[in-house]
Amino acid sequence: MPQRFGVFGGTFDPPHLGHVAVARAARDTLGLDRVLLVVANDPWKKSPERAVTPAADRLAMVEALVTGESGLVASDMEIRRGGPSYTVATLRELRASHGDAVLYLIIGRDLVDDFPTWHESVEIGRLATIVVVNRPGFVTDPQRDWKMLVVPPIDISSTQLRERLRSGADVQEFIPSSVQATIRERGLYRTTGTDSTSLHGTTTNRT
Ligand code: ATP
Repeated sequence: MPQRFGVFGGTFDPPHLGHVAVARAARDTLGLDRVLLVVANDPWKKSPERAVTPAADRLAMVEALVTGESGLVASDMEIRRGGPSYTVATLRELRASHGDAVLYLIIGRDLVDDFPTWHESVEIGRLATIVVVNRPGFVTDPQRDWKMLVVPPIDISSTQLRERLRSGADVQEFIPSSVQATIRERGLYRTTGTDSTSLHGTTTNRT
């Protein structure tokens, strides 16, 4: 039987329970052997607009997020590859290393509108079955040959959580304690009255 992989890419700055809910639902509903939470090295659509937390810190947070979660794996493949993180390159790399695997690319509904602007987006659809998960506030219909996966709605974003962390507000409801411990240990998202991520460096490989 060919292996069935879910590819769930993101900036994960920081990772939150919305991400876990998506990965678990994909694993269980699609019967996936593994869901790879692929940490973007340089999220090229976001990095020109804001300082992004260094990739090594985001990877450490995702590793904490998936600890003890069966079948959910933190992947550093885009960090190892370096440069801007193109999903098409990630899928090609997986295809090369796991020739007969069945690949599912999991994206939130907030990304449906923008998807055609992704690097080689048509090729992405040839390499993987695209699965769209619902996200509160987003309604764009997926393309006809895509799958829709219903997950328990969790109305949170990393943007909101960065703001909460900076202001010292409680994040318990949305960030598991293992990830909070990593944030504390690495001194991330500190309250400084300014954009704290810029004080701790940014991703190195901007385009
Ligand atoms: P930011 O607010 O910084 O843009 P984000 O919360 O959207 O971040 P990402 O790391 O960019 O998080 O998201 C990775 C993937 O997870 C994307 O496919 C995104 O659509 C999906 N996703 C993130 N949060 C949710 C959520 N609450 N419900 C469903 N999907 C989500």
